[in-house]
Amino acid sequence: QLKDKLAEKQEVKGYFETTGFDRWNRIYSESDDVNKVQRNIRIGHQKTVDEVLAWIKDSGELSEVSFCDAGCGVGSLSLPLAAMGAGSISASDISEAMAKEAERRAGEAGLDMSKLNFFASDLESLSGSFHTVCCLDVFIHYPQAAAEEMVKHLCSLSEQRLIVSFAPYTPLLAILKSIGQLFPGPSKTTRAYTLKEEGIVKAAMACGFEPVRRSLNKAPFYFSRLIEFRKKD
Ligand code: SAM
Repeated sequence: QLKDKLAEKQEVKGYFETTGFDRWNRIYSESDDVNKVQRNIRIGHQKTVDEVLAWIKDSGELSEVSFCDAGCGVGSLSLPLAAMGAGSISASDISEAMAKEAERRAGEAGLDMSKLNFFASDLESLSGSFHTVCCLDVFIHYPQAAAEEMVKHLCSLSEQRLIVSFAPYTPLLAILKSIGQLFPGPSKTTRAYTLKEEGIVKAAMACGFEPVRRSLNKAPFYFSRLIEFRKKD
């Protein structure tokens, strides 16, 4: 089973170093070179990012706040966070191509690189202690049990706040099918998992966190539950 888990992770990594990188780098950009499904995913994902930024802004002064952006992709969250004046941001991704692109974009945007640290790492291997840990739209690549383990590890890195988003399990098979369109082909990495929200919440609660805010961000072909957890006193 451990071998299966490692093999699965290696496949996800392989995908995001190659075809997945090209595809998602285009989705998470302003490029016109996207199809209708991809354009809608871009719109939906931007809603998730904007909501996270609004929640964080709401919570007050950021200059002393340390962030961990686990599975940062091309920096869609980390870059605006830096621009908003976050104290420090540790942004990592299992795909080196992704982490490098995020760093390139941050440089291009003229952000203060002394506050940003980009590196390649799977989130299960991350260590350290951060005020706020974020992990957006990463769990979609993993089944329930693995995603819950990830939540627990992310809790161990967080001093106060954990913000995660994932595709919630829903009987609306149409949505699952739509996700399938984005990942054509028989490859295992193309699988998209929807997750039971209750399991994700229980995993965080087992680590002393409680959900304080939730939202559901939608666009055609995009469906993502966003939850903010706070550590209980
Ligand atoms: N969080 C980013 C965002 O919202 O813009 C990227 C979301 S993208 C759909 C999923 C990302 O998760 C990819 O960049 C992929 O390389 C990364 N990823 C997948 N499995 C991971 C793991 N085990 N640890 C860290 N990153 C992972």
